[in-house]
Amino acid sequence: MISELVRKNVEEIVPYEPGKPIEELKRELGITRVIKLASNENALGPSPLALKVLRSSLNSIYLYPDGGGHYLREKLAEKFCLNKNQILLGNGSDEILRMIVETFLNPGEEIITGNPSFAMYQIDCKVGGGRCITVPLKNFTFDLRGILERITSKTKLIFIANPNNPTGTIVTEKEVEEFFKEIPSHLIVVFDEAYYEYIERKDFPDTLRKVKEGKPVIILRTFSKIYGLAGLRIGYCFANKEIISALDKVRSPFNTNSLAQKAALAALDDEEHVKKSTKMVKEGKKYLYNEFEKLGLEYIPSETNFVLVNVKKDSREIFHRLLKKGIIIRAMDVYGLKEWIR
Ligand code: PMP
Repeated sequence: MISELVRKNVEEIVPYEPGKPIEELKRELGITRVIKLASNENALGPSPLALKVLRSSLNSIYLYPDGGGHYLREKLAEKFCLNKNQILLGNGSDEILRMIVETFLNPGEEIITGNPSFAMYQIDCKVGGGRCITVPLKNFTFDLRGILERITSKTKLIFIANPNNPTGTIVTEKEVEEFFKEIPSHLIVVFDEAYYEYIERKDFPDTLRKVKEGKPVIILRTFSKIYGLAGLRIGYCFANKEIISALDKVRSPFNTNSLAQKAALAALDDEEHVKKSTKMVKEGKKYLYNEFEKLGLEYIPSETNFVLVNVKKDSREIFHRLLKKGIIIRAMDVYGLKEWIR
């Protein structure tokens, strides 16, 4: 039996369920118009500057990419006032999450995260042979005090999605400051800031400062969301140079492809696209909040490009009914929120 050959911790993994692909629904229903709201992609599409560069870069794909991503890291360093050796690129921030576990987690050690949060934290922990401790959210928000209480000598990594997926909520500067006063020195705190560019609140923590101060912190960002490059798979992280050089040891040689690197480089200059995207999301949320209020539906104000709303009905049923209309959303029953959709 093959299952007997599979590592026990891998056998136990419940696979990540991605948003239903548009093409799959088109095939199933024989329809041509599908609206996908399930993967927090940019409804305006990719950065036009990135697209332009991509078109003129196709001839170079017979060459291996610069695995280190020199130019993109240099540009990110300049933009965020860091040194190049404090930045690492990944095949999406997903890959960096996996690399973090591979680099730092010994079998039997523990990761702490919130619940519900991004499902990959628990999957990566399993792959690494670790134990994932989940702390229930408080008020739909990461409970940093609750996390502190669960730290043991075995804790190696803490994953904080900020803003959190699927709730769209943030932990604040003040909460993070309090948290760091009590964090022991034997562990690394990972702030997953995939939706960073959409944040409007002013009390969002300055985690970059923590990196600059040399704290054991990793910040994850991505080109998948606001820059609209999810299909190219490119993300990045900031950390002190010791952490980055450790991560770089497990990085596969050509993990980010040349087109993705070039597109990301161009996207960073596309202030127009970022501005349009934030405006669209801000207005979209305002519209949705208004309509939810008229319908008497509870929702969680979000610092991202998605909103969690209680539809007061079985979320799986709403998911299927919307599918039939060509609209793909996320049912939150799998996160224990039976009547909520995202
Ligand atoms: N972190 C969070 C919180 C996310 O929601 C996502 C995407 N769903 C990711 C990381 C991964 O993003 P990517 O790999 O596309 O950079």
